[in-house]
Amino acid sequence: MKHPAVGILEELVRIQSVNPHYGEGARGEQELSRYVEAYFARLGLSVRRQQVAEGRDNVIVELKTGHPDSLLLFEAHMDTVSLGSMEQPLVPVIRDGRLYGRGACDTKGSLAAMMYAFEQCARRPEGLQSDLVLCASVDEEHAFTGLLKFLELELPVTAAVVGEPTELKIVVSHKGCARFAVRTGGRAAHSSVPHEGVNAIVGMAKVIGYVNDRLAPTLTRLLDPLCGPATISIGTIRGGKQINIVPESCVIEVDRRIIPGEQPEQVLSEIREELLRWCAEEGIDCTIEPLLLDWALNTPQGDPLVLSAQKAAASLGLADGLYGETYGSNASKLQGIRGIPSIVYGPGSIAQAHSREEWVGVRDVEQAARFYEQLARSYRRS
Ligand SMILES: [Zn+2]
Repeated sequence: MKHPAVGILEELVRIQSVNPHYGEGARGEQELSRYVEAYFARLGLSVRRQQVAEGRDNVIVELKTGHPDSLLLFEAHMDTVSLGSMEQPLVPVIRDGRLYGRGACDTKGSLAAMMYAFEQCARRPEGLQSDLVLCASVDEEHAFTGLLKFLELELPVTAAVVGEPTELKIVVSHKGCARFAVRTGGRAAHSSVPHEGVNAIVGMAKVIGYVNDRLAPTLTRLLDPLCGPATISIGTIRGGKQINIVPESCVIEVDRRIIPGEQPEQVLSEIREELLRWCAEEGIDCTIEPLLLDWALNTPQGDPLVLSAQKAAASLGLADGLYGETYGSNASKLQGIRGIPSIVYGPGSIAQAHSREEWVGVRDVEQAARFYEQLARSYRRS
């Protein structure tokens, strides 16, 4: 018989919720937020929508258990990346124990499991030692404005579980990032007299050499036991207008991944200082603009949330070790902005997220639902 969480997941997959950032045909989260709202309203639960942008609402459900001093948050995003070249992105097909569909893995599998676990807690609240809140958020795949808006409510959340594909591993830390653009300036001239100009692309070539050959190797020393080393990667380059003009501008975008213990603002300001000094010595006209700063996640391993999660996993025969990831999630915002101890946990693998044939293991979704419910029933802020 099909587990109810898998039935919910099928419904979620049928509803297109591509993040509008992904362009034409993207419908956003509106229809899905209506579905989630109706699902909980039907159960008679306190559910509300929180507008984040025109036609884009978080859905927030609360369960009061008489323990307002301890509040456990379940959070999962509703948006997905573009439908891409998936064959039937909106038709949930179960084959060989896998459920296929856009968002099945990232992160509707987690959302469905959380919804089912929340429902079970609402139906049988006896013994719960914490109030519960579930936030189905918008816009994680672009600028995480949904989560930021949710934080404005300042609910007294004492711990959080963020649903993302972790292969049912308890993730207590992950990397953050300091992304920035570097621009080199030059002076335009006709390419027949290049000595009359200053070539911004040639300047940038030196900057790239510096980032790659001098900065990058020093980062291997910054090693987190769970997340691995800090890294730096140059992702884009644009420069020059046409072949017969010496280019006056060149821009690269750089993604420096930070590890727990590093602060994104500080990392960026150190890179800026170092790079600008070096460019000045080399006579390169250079400016640096911040693009995106995101915290690393670093939840203390002795926190009641982590201990409850390990206990819940062990009681279900699931992996109870602690893990780190290289990618980011909403969890680091919860911890970075409000100091909320957070873990990431969910069915499916990040390897299948955003992929051409996205799928999640049906059994994993069931296990995640059990884990979330067990955790909700056992968590108590110390
Ligand atoms: Zn995700």
